[in-house]
Amino acid sequence: MSVKERLLRYVRVDTQSDPESETHPSTEKQFDLANLLVEELKEIGLTDAAVDQNCYIYAHLPANTEEKLPRIGFIAHMDTSPDFSGKDVSPRIIENYDGGDIKLNQERTTLVADFPWMKDLAGKTLMVTDGTTLLGADDKAGIACIMDALEYYYNHPEEKHGEIAVAFTPDEEIGRGTDCFDIEKFGADFAYTMDGDSVSFYSDETFNADSAVVSVRGFAIHPGNSKNRMKNAALIAAQYASRLPEALTPAHTEGREGFIHLQEIRGSVEEAELSYILRDFSREALAKYHTLMERLCDYMNAEYGEDCLRVTFRESYRNMGEVLSGQPEPSILAVKALTKLGYLPEKLPIRGGTDGAALSFRGLPCPNLGTGGNNFHGPYEYCVMEELEDAAVLIRTILACALEDYL
Ligand SMILES: [Zn+2]
Repeated sequence: MSVKERLLRYVRVDTQSDPESETHPSTEKQFDLANLLVEELKEIGLTDAAVDQNCYIYAHLPANTEEKLPRIGFIAHMDTSPDFSGKDVSPRIIENYDGGDIKLNQERTTLVADFPWMKDLAGKTLMVTDGTTLLGADDKAGIACIMDALEYYYNHPEEKHGEIAVAFTPDEEIGRGTDCFDIEKFGADFAYTMDGDSVSFYSDETFNADSAVVSVRGFAIHPGNSKNRMKNAALIAAQYASRLPEALTPAHTEGREGFIHLQEIRGSVEEAELSYILRDFSREALAKYHTLMERLCDYMNAEYGEDCLRVTFRESYRNMGEVLSGQPEPSILAVKALTKLGYLPEKLPIRGGTDGAALSFRGLPCPNLGTGGNNFHGPYEYCVMEELEDAAVLIRTILACALEDYL
């Protein structure tokens, strides 16, 4: 089976995760793909492949050389985003793409004006949606290229490699992809999540992430009789939001800049609440956002009375760069392999988190690699077939470079 055929097969299985669900996995249907993958893994020689009760697949391809090589892992997630339907995905292949707008159906067209990087893809082969669903290349492209690399070793036993660990996980899109991840069972020295976009990018840095809740306590009183006494919590909340620097909102930041993002605001005269997420690549900057938000509370409390506003913070995840800068081997290997494949590797700090961030802090160094997809989580998602094929070769090249390093 070609890697393209694999992707076509996997995207047709609906695996959407559900943030409202309390179960692991969040949706039972993720087992549909898991069971299919376990069968396929066994067919290509990973005899220990199995899915556990939380829908995590672990499988290993033993080394076929005596050399003492690192055990390298590859991870991809099976679920698709709750943001857009992943049911009845019916993809279309565009050969020799002309670099222009793509009419997906009567109502929907992918406009190059909205996604300007697409004009650089002229001449490539794209997989696109029919406009009614997302594609699910995020992250079934990751699964497809890992499976393709494994199948290659099955057909080429003469190709030497160290032990390979594979994991396919549920619920990444709802931030629970590593909740039940068994690092010991996975048994790799380091790993890669195959969950990025362009193959030329590799990522060994993520944001530091916290959430913050600002609670506002008002004083409700009959409005006809409230002069100099009423404290309208909803109005105070709106004032708080407007007093934080606009330059620190996501709409004004890019690259390595961090932000304070207001996600939700709700309230009445009696009480109100503002929900924020805070992001930055540096911990120090993140700490400054805390200080800024606390000081604004103090400042406004001086005006509205003690305990009117209160902010509480919660840690979400930390920049995996803190771990990976001390353990650069996986990144060095990835750069070497990409260069060998003719790419100009570009380090891309992820303006978000990955499963690899949590795993790196739990002792499994885990940068992220691209698989050729883009415009994720919606109907404009696509995958570049040439890059998908390269991503599969990249996996084998990483293993070959590890062997070369040893010899
Ligand atoms: Zn993903």
